[in-house]
Amino acid sequence: MRLGATYVFIVFIILLFVSVIASRFSHKPIGRSVVFLNLALMIPVVGNLIIIISRTQNYSTLGYYTYFIGMDISVFALFRFTLDYCNINLKNPRWPEFTLYALIAGDVIQFILNPFFHQAFSTEMLMVDKSAYYRIIPFLGQTCHRIICYGIFFVILTIFIYKWIKVPKIYSEKYSIIMIAILVAGGVEAYYILSRKPIDIAMIGLAIMGLLVYYFAIVYRPVRLLDRMLASVVSDMPEALYFFDKSGQCIWANGPGCFMGGVKEGEYDNVKDNLQALFGEIEFSNPEWSNNVEIGEGDDTRYYNLDTRPVTDTNDNLSGMLLNIHDSTESQREFMKQMYNSTHDSLTGLYAREYLNECIDKRLKSDKKHTHLILYVNISNFNIINDVFGNQFGDLTLKTIAENIKKNAQKNAIYGKISTHTFGLLVRKDLFDEGRLEEALSNFTIKDNNLEHHIVIHIGIYEAAPDDESDVDLMFESARLATSKLNEDSVEHIVYYDDMLRDEIVYDQLISNQLQDAIKEKQMRPYLQPIVNNDGTLVGAEALVRWIHPDDGYLSPAAFIPVFEKNGLIAEVDKYMWRCACEILTDWASRGIDAFISVNISPKDFYFLDVVKEIRFLVEEFKIDPVKLRIEITESVMMSDSDDRLKIVDEFRKLGFIVEIDDFGSGYSSFNLLKDMPVDVLKIDMMFLKDSEKNPRSNTIIQNIINMSEDLGIVSLTEGVETFEQYQKLAGMGCKLFQGYYFSKPVPVEDFEKDWFRRRAGNEV
Ligand code: C2E
Ligand code: CA
Ligand code: CA
Repeated sequence: MRLGATYVFIVFIILLFVSVIASRFSHKPIGRSVVFLNLALMIPVVGNLIIIISRTQNYSTLGYYTYFIGMDISVFALFRFTLDYCNINLKNPRWPEFTLYALIAGDVIQFILNPFFHQAFSTEMLMVDKSAYYRIIPFLGQTCHRIICYGIFFVILTIFIYKWIKVPKIYSEKYSIIMIAILVAGGVEAYYILSRKPIDIAMIGLAIMGLLVYYFAIVYRPVRLLDRMLASVVSDMPEALYFFDKSGQCIWANGPGCFMGGVKEGEYDNVKDNLQALFGEIEFSNPEWSNNVEIGEGDDTRYYNLDTRPVTDTNDNLSGMLLNIHDSTESQREFMKQMYNSTHDSLTGLYAREYLNECIDKRLKSDKKHTHLILYVNISNFNIINDVFGNQFGDLTLKTIAENIKKNAQKNAIYGKISTHTFGLLVRKDLFDEGRLEEALSNFTIKDNNLEHHIVIHIGIYEAAPDDESDVDLMFESARLATSKLNEDSVEHIVYYDDMLRDEIVYDQLISNQLQDAIKEKQMRPYLQPIVNNDGTLVGAEALVRWIHPDDGYLSPAAFIPVFEKNGLIAEVDKYMWRCACEILTDWASRGIDAFISVNISPKDFYFLDVVKEIRFLVEEFKIDPVKLRIEITESVMMSDSDDRLKIVDEFRKLGFIVEIDDFGSGYSSFNLLKDMPVDVLKIDMMFLKDSEKNPRSNTIIQNIINMSEDLGIVSLTEGVETFEQYQKLAGMGCKLFQGYYFSKPVPVEDFEKDWFRRRAGNEV
């Protein structure tokens, strides 16, 4: 019996030692706790071995000390292992943990004191297997030792039971196994105590516990746990999964798979047929096949990705195939929505610029049989439309134009929106009906709350021959350049880009570059056109710019003013002209020429200059009476942003200037504006006069304008008076001032001055 137990203990000590070494090299984090536990467990086992083999009381007693203190260390190690294994982090409060350690430490101390006080145990001799064996006689200290060890044992067991109950079912195995090992050890120990057998076989229980802990914590792969985890992951996957064996028979499908395949769990015979009916041909025998399938139409379309994967066993032999059907409808829809947003204009739903260019590029490359036209569609003065009528009306305009394009474009035209207020189209030249388009543009109106607004649309066209390899952006740029030749009152709305137009554009650029020098070198000159009153007296003049160009000779304003109005250089010209007018007026003051000069203010000046400040500084600099420098503002200026402009007119008048409305009647709602316009002079547009010869209604209109201005205390001036008859007729109607070729063309300043002195000398016309 003693010899047998000796061998058993030695074997367990060796096994524990091996487990310690193996745990030491384990990569698992729990390894360190297992090393400490099994090292600790070796101590009481060694202690027991000493007790069994010793024949003297001294050795036995040493064995008992080793055993009891070893038990304390083991209980401590088991507790530490438990915390580690169960992932318990004891933070606040820490006193229960420390109390526990203090109890263990106290127990160790009382064993150390036992030789002096004999309070823990002593031994008595027995005869076992015919030799002396020293059995323990427990005292109070020993009882305390048991209470402490069992108490801690009980705490540890409670922790395991708690974890076992608390964690999800699939993890409970991890705790139940170790819990059983601890229970076994506890049970064997209890049996020993109760049986009072002389040899403590409980040590075997402890050693087995250590080995089980080692096995389950370090070696064992919880296969069942993994299996269950995988099974639940696979079953819960939103994807439909099917496993086909080598013969192509479906032998398993997850929940979504059963649902999609229209079968019940376990009855997979019809899976193949049902899936083929839904998704078409599926290559069940090809383990590396995939396909994207769309089912349904329009908004109800659903999208699926099907793919197969080989399943092999551990020897790499094909054991079957997994079919995976993924419903990608949501992500596909999201993707298509994003695609749509990035390729379409949100307001009109037309293609956005980049996508439009891409589509046009593809078409031009693929259709080499036809000549195409690139149309650049520009809404003239869109910013003003937005300012005056509001953004909502601006949006309505854009949407209406987009609708018109959709409705009327050729069947396979490509169109889209290029910028906020420009559209682009690609059409075939042979199918293009320019006449129809021009007619549609000639009176294009947008209805908004029963009001009709006239919208001017300009279209530049670039012709792309089949062999034209130009960049689409460049084609649009050329078409855009072409529109720059049109202005608000052009009769045509469509203009083609061609070499001549390109030359014109180049010329425009050239004169723009020359402007600064032209001003410096006085190639720019003010000409004066006389203005007379109703008894034919010369009272003033309008200053009109002329360019005596070193290469091109005399340039009329029509050749350069529109160019400079487009690129803003007009402000330079006007500032120069205002200064010239001031110089002339100063000179006249000293020479007794008592006439006024009207200067032109371009609508564009307001964008680039503080016009009032600029002119006020000039009259201050030259010390001129503001009454002498009249201000001509065109009617179109008053139309746009009228509140702001009215303020400007007011400021001018407060400073003493006389403000004239130029080209009155050329716009469309001038009559409406007239009553709110605090101006001094109305310059009636010469178109009325021209018209009046043929159209008697124009006469009525002129008469009305004159009467109305009289009522409002505004002086009327008619421009473009070419004949004596016109002059007489207008004077008869009550017009106060006249300007026109009948009196004089615009002439150089010296000529005007000569004219003045001649007339004053009594030779009036
Ligand atoms: P506008 O201000 O309406 O000037 C009157 C234009 O009518 C002048 O043309 C003048 O020569 C022309 N004219 C005068 N009487 C008659 C007539 O009896 N029959 C005909 N058929 N025409 C007549 P011009 O000088 O060629 O100027 C054209 C336009 O260029 C001006 O129209 C004005 O808008 C602009 N402009 C001229 N000089 C300047 C300037 O210094 N600054 C600005 N911003 N614009 C200017
Ligand atoms: Ca004028
Ligand atoms: Ca005019």
